[in-house]
Amino acid sequence: MEGEPEAPHVLIFPLPFQGHINSMLKLAELLSRAGITVTFLNTPHSHRQLTHHSDVLLRFSRFPAFRFRTITDGLPPDHPRTFDFFPDIIASFETVTKPILRDFLISGHFGSDLTCAILDGLFKFLVDADDAEIKIPVFGFRTVSACSIWTYLSVPHLIQDGQLPIRGEEDMERMITNVPGMENLLRCRDLPGFCRVTDINDYLLQFIVEQTQRSYEFHSLILNSFQDLEGPILEKIRTLCPNLYAIGPLHALLKAKFSNETESLNNLWEVDRSCLKWLDNQPPGSVIYVSFGSITVMGKEKLVEFWHGLVDSGRNFLWVVRPDLVRGENGDVEIPAELEEGTRKRGCMVGWAPQEEVLSHEAVGGFLTHSGWNSTLESVVAGKPMICWSYIADQQVNSRFVSNVWKLGLDMKDVCDRGTVAKMVNELMVDRKEEFMRSAAAMANLAKRSVSPGGSSYADFDRLVQDIRLPSQ
Ligand code: UDP
Repeated sequence: MEGEPEAPHVLIFPLPFQGHINSMLKLAELLSRAGITVTFLNTPHSHRQLTHHSDVLLRFSRFPAFRFRTITDGLPPDHPRTFDFFPDIIASFETVTKPILRDFLISGHFGSDLTCAILDGLFKFLVDADDAEIKIPVFGFRTVSACSIWTYLSVPHLIQDGQLPIRGEEDMERMITNVPGMENLLRCRDLPGFCRVTDINDYLLQFIVEQTQRSYEFHSLILNSFQDLEGPILEKIRTLCPNLYAIGPLHALLKAKFSNETESLNNLWEVDRSCLKWLDNQPPGSVIYVSFGSITVMGKEKLVEFWHGLVDSGRNFLWVVRPDLVRGENGDVEIPAELEEGTRKRGCMVGWAPQEEVLSHEAVGGFLTHSGWNSTLESVVAGKPMICWSYIADQQVNSRFVSNVWKLGLDMKDVCDRGTVAKMVNELMVDRKEEFMRSAAAMANLAKRSVSPGGSSYADFDRLVQDIRLPSQ
């Protein structure tokens, strides 16, 4: 209609990993439902995986203006593209993808109506802040916790003060005293996994720290977190990035604002829904759900220790064992003979679960997790206490906050002998069950309040939509 302003058009581009694609698709859906045109950019590899294993095309077909587009990651077709190859992936994005993206943005490839871009916060290097030819504002979206971002921002001070590097295994219990706001909280072992290097010039550490420090170059920063969970740390980040929107938990905001559908359809793996039937037949609160997310890999010995621990705990367990969870293997793992009976009686194992639905099932009483940020938020919203066995990146910080700040569970990081696994499962599910269920229920209420009308994430999302409609350069 004449005189009516055109709908804004946003380009969204995540890093090609499940946790990043998952949460940025949620953001894409939220914006689409708010009447904004969205182009979702993916690498051809991720797009193939995503559309092969999920109903994502169907889900987004309800938004006529929404479209998927792809851009090359510059890697050969047979490249494994797993997290182990992160430096390769980034190098290729920098040399091959960056100039193509620049060209696309300048030439109007995504449509002349494109009004802004939301890049994964780790993609700061893809667009130079002083590139005058890119005329649209570029927002950053970080998929990790505020507490881990603040820790990354503190790394240069830690190096300057001689608190980093960590000097080997015997140094892991040393307290880190100069992360502002976390003075008596973090031990070396609770710093982001990338800090576990003897050389502070390590590529990955430097990359993550630099991209995080450059967050202020974005027009604005969007975080999947909420005020009642990370308020004091969000305030600290605001001192560096004043235009910050905390709009999490995104999956809960999506449900609260627009949709009652419970299922997440953004999977890169085939979902095995048979576990929901199995859960239906278990008593309330009796099952420990075990999943280490999409990129964790472990040696077979660790897997066997977890397995013994779960069987020895005497609790029922639902365990996600991805085909590529065990390093060097790709396929089903064989059940050790001595664990066959215990697994058959009390266990259910799948390659990939409908996690949000599993966590909200009443049979699930706890979550043994790698503390990925999406998994942590999904557990928080479902009100399920956690045992944390962190693997990499922000997970080490998240698990410390789960146990020592939010009191939502136990931190098992760096240990996984069968005795500890069994003991912790029982501590969470039996001995201290009431205490943990109480604090998990209280936090779940705060999360729900934050995404309801009048809540902080609800308000920040509305502010984001307004700013996308009228971005100030
Ligand atoms: N997930 C899932 N099914 C599974 C395991 C994981 O749907 O069997 C989803 C989970 O709900 C979460 C994402 O995969 O949204 C994992 O993201 P997270 O940030 O927790 O960890 P990452 O995979 O990035 O390490």
